[in-house]
Amino acid sequence: MSEPLLELAHARKYYASPGGQVRAVDDVSLSVAEGELVAILGPSGSGKTTLLLLAAGLLAPDEGSVRFQGAELAALSKREALAYRRTKLGFVFQSFNLVVGLTAAENVAMPLLLRGTDHSVARLQALEALDGVGLAARAEHIPSRLSGGEQQRTAIARALVGEPKLILADEPTGNLDSETGTEVLEVLSVLPRARGAATILVTHDTRIARAADRVLQMRDGRLTEPEPASEREGEGKGEPASACESDPTQSAGGR
Ligand code: ADP
Ligand code: MG
Repeated sequence: MSEPLLELAHARKYYASPGGQVRAVDDVSLSVAEGELVAILGPSGSGKTTLLLLAAGLLAPDEGSVRFQGAELAALSKREALAYRRTKLGFVFQSFNLVVGLTAAENVAMPLLLRGTDHSVARLQALEALDGVGLAARAEHIPSRLSGGEQQRTAIARALVGEPKLILADEPTGNLDSETGTEVLEVLSVLPRARGAATILVTHDTRIARAADRVLQMRDGRLTEPEPASEREGEGKGEPASACESDPTQSAGGR
């Protein structure tokens, strides 16, 4: 077995709050392999975002370790941590986080420009990435001229354009209707894998279960296997696109 891409070992992150200590992430161990799609389900406040922040090196664990390709993130200098995020990670957020005054192509080019890629090269790669998410025709539109699903696909193109090793997606379908959410889950369960990137996908949408390599459940800061009565009837591994097709008995969940 090769070295895991990302490895959390007994990671803890506690917050002080007026009501007492909050165990946002409580003794979490998680190993993510290259190219793997790990879905994390769990109620609001269970620690999912905190877990992603630990993986991004944006928070240091109070205890335990978070390693990427064997390197302890907390030991990186600020500059190294920034380089880690810029070159190895791609982020997808619930609220898309596109820059409002920039076109889709300019938004997607941004991570490359931040790394110092030449403008014309960045633009070509951005157009390719937009084509990859089916948005070639929307490249010159600003976000307000795009639908929610198109904005999120633009954000996915932005996350993928720099060929990251790991995509961190935090409730990417939370602001989308069920059908659009399905499209976004399909894109997220196919494209990163096709490009060799692993994905940690935090979602309320249980439909991801059939496309993911693994589904975990977060509850009160603890990461566990989901309860046996979960929706995973089939093991849809390896057929993410069809596995993600909407299930009429299942609403989008979350909102
Ligand atoms: P989720 O993403 O699953 O909704 P979070 O990771 O955002 O959960 O939060 C987990 C817990 O930690 C919650 O109880 C939340 O209120 C608390 N929390 C998150 N961030 C902070 C913070 N910066 N300061 C204090 N408490 C926080
Ligand atoms: Mg959250």
